[in-house]
Amino acid sequence: MDITTALADIQARINKSSSLKDLEDMRIQYLGQNSELTKSLQSLGKLAPEERRVKGAELNQLKMDLQITFAAMKAGLEAAELNAQLASQAIDVTLPADPTYQGRIHPVTAAMEDIAAALKTLGFVHAYGPEVESDDYNFTKLNLPPHHPARQDQDTFYLNPFNAEDRARYVLRTQTSNVQIRALEAYKPPFRVMGIGRVYRRDYDLTHTPQFHQVEGMMVESGTTFAHMRGVLDEFLRLFFGKSFKTRMRPHYFPFTEPSGEIDMECQACKGAGCRICKNSGWLEVLGCGMVHRNVLAVGGLNPVENPGFAFGAGVDRLAMLKYGITDLRLLFESHGAFLQQFGKAPVAAV
Ligand SMILES: [Zn+2]
Repeated sequence: MDITTALADIQARINKSSSLKDLEDMRIQYLGQNSELTKSLQSLGKLAPEERRVKGAELNQLKMDLQITFAAMKAGLEAAELNAQLASQAIDVTLPADPTYQGRIHPVTAAMEDIAAALKTLGFVHAYGPEVESDDYNFTKLNLPPHHPARQDQDTFYLNPFNAEDRARYVLRTQTSNVQIRALEAYKPPFRVMGIGRVYRRDYDLTHTPQFHQVEGMMVESGTTFAHMRGVLDEFLRLFFGKSFKTRMRPHYFPFTEPSGEIDMECQACKGAGCRICKNSGWLEVLGCGMVHRNVLAVGGLNPVENPGFAFGAGVDRLAMLKYGITDLRLLFESHGAFLQQFGKAPVAAV
């Protein structure tokens, strides 16, 4: 075959190759070690000098032309392949993004923040007490001496003494009222303190968990009366729930206050008509309260005539359930994402 015809023929085939693999196969076929062209070049030595010069020039020209054709075709195919790849991986900026979920503040934490904010407005400051507490601070100084029958009301977790010399018995605090004792020891009247935190009791059923949360408040100030207490607590509930509603007070017994009472709020689900939540009474118990007992004031060297005071306590978890409309206490402790998305409070955006 005439060498020019051969070149045109091969170039036509090369230009029809549809992939880099096709092209490479063809390159091996025409330019590889076993190709006809390579063999012809190797056999040039057998030709006569004049013929070798002419034939050699032709074959080398053919080889160079083929290499140029292959290189051009390869560049074209690579560009096409890259374009196809880019087209298939294109990002559609109009597609909706995957949803992202912002964390929510747990209802109990949110309730604690709201309680603290409401009490702060009324002049109360934070006070603290340890969760591992001595029997003395958890019971005796709160007018619950050993063998007092009211100790039986609280299923207490007792801890072993830390060492043999230490005869005091330690407990996981059963109430935040230990904060009252520590405040009486630390402050001189007038003062208003709040203690918010974890408490522990050996109790577990539909409405009780071994660990729960309480808020405690105490105001000690000359001239304080039962009427002041009622006014402060009504205002606290109004601030916490963000609305006004009827409240009532019933007499009650607590060892550390005298006289004592419990405050009920009108059931907001039925507006007092009676429903499942309020057990058809129209009222929901929310707070325990009373004038600080003289035996408790004595811890701070105070007497009830010169420095009377009142104290109150409430379950934070219960307040959270009432505020956010949660009907099962256990949900507060099970960390379900869906529950938190529904009832959790949106965090305040960072500025
Ligand atoms: Zn009701």
